[in-house]
Amino acid sequence: MNPVRQAIRFAMQSVCPRRRLLIRGPRRPQPGLSVEVVSGRSTARPEIALTFDDGPHPEHTPRLLDELARLDMKATFFVIGFDAALYPDVVRRMAREGHAVGNHTWMHTEPTETGTVQFLEEIGRTRSLLEDLTGTECTLVRPPKGKLTPAKLAGLWRQRQTTVLWSVDPKDYQMKSEQEITAWAELLQCRQGDVILMHDSRPWAVSTLARLASTGVRAVTIPEWLNRKPAAQPDGSREPGEAGSEETGMDSGDHGAEPAPATIRLPDRGTGRGLFEELASRCSRTRSGSFPEDGLEELATLPMYRNQQVPQ
Ligand SMILES: [Zn+2]
Repeated sequence: MNPVRQAIRFAMQSVCPRRRLLIRGPRRPQPGLSVEVVSGRSTARPEIALTFDDGPHPEHTPRLLDELARLDMKATFFVIGFDAALYPDVVRRMAREGHAVGNHTWMHTEPTETGTVQFLEEIGRTRSLLEDLTGTECTLVRPPKGKLTPAKLAGLWRQRQTTVLWSVDPKDYQMKSEQEITAWAELLQCRQGDVILMHDSRPWAVSTLARLASTGVRAVTIPEWLNRKPAAQPDGSREPGEAGSEETGMDSGDHGAEPAPATIRLPDRGTGRGLFEELASRCSRTRSGSFPEDGLEELATLPMYRNQQVPQ
């Protein structure tokens, strides 16, 4: 994991609503659900999200689904559209067994060689297939290699997709044996809200599940976190990224609210500023064009922007 890139991602998470960009889950587990009683005392069970990319695979994915069912764990699969079309029954099974199915583009093309238009077309094509197969709306996207440009991120926001990255990466795609990944799992200390990245296109991930389950974590899907009502903190504040900002943010335009002023205000904290400046600048330059058509107004409603107007 590139530490600089990961630092930028976490900075972005601190200024983005979690429903638009998720790198870690909530800081606190769901009261009531994630508690186990040990020696007569209630102990919070950390919640983690297991995420599997690059499937479905005709052999590895069903094996993984068997093990998840045996251990009563839920996961989120980011599938490649082309492979979902080849193995639709595996995708149907994921949904039927309570797992979440997200979008990992149609062909998993190299991010640096894929323009915004092609990227968004691949997302749209995969999304319609997944919605046909699962019968539910598909709103989760993980870009290949976790790489996004401001234009791609804005395009996903405009389509009301949640971009999901990760906080823990064992790099199982580089591993050569089961021993390597089980050694990693033995040492792993899961923290509340961890999003673990593994790959069901490779054979190793399945051998970590029993060990992870034995640590007492509760494995939840990404939508379970996103759909959870934000819990107020003791001082009345909300967690960074909690969905409270959504109510006054991007969604406000859907409910007949006053149109937002046509100004962009930039964040005054965090190293994610450069990205947002560029995003805002692009929106500003194409205000009357097609990208993103109403991006300026949409961005202007976000409470994260303040103090400074973008030059027109
Ligand atoms: Zn991938």
